[in-house]
Amino acid sequence: MKVSFSCLMCGLDTPSIEIRIDELSRAAVRRALGTAESGFRPLWDATLTPHCPRCHGRLLLELGSVPIWRQHEAAREAAT
Ligand SMILES: [Zn+2]
Repeated sequence: MKVSFSCLMCGLDTPSIEIRIDELSRAAVRRALGTAESGFRPLWDATLTPHCPRCHGRLLLELGSVPIWRQHEAAREAAT
C-alpha cells in the first residue's frame, strides 16, 4: 500500500510512502508509519487526523491512487 500526505496549509507534499497495513484505517496507517523507513512522522490528534509536522495544519491522506479520504474530507467540508 502506498500512502502520501499533503498539507492544506503550507503545501508540504510527501512522496509516496510504502507501508504494510492489513486494514484501511488511519490507526493502521499510523502504526505502519511508525515503522516505515521514510522518516515522515505526522502528528496525530485524538481523532486520528494527521497533522503537518511543519505547520500543524491538517494533512490530507491519500491511499494508493484512490484518494478516498480526500473525497470524504472534501464532502465534509462542503457540508459545513
Ligand atoms: Zn504544513
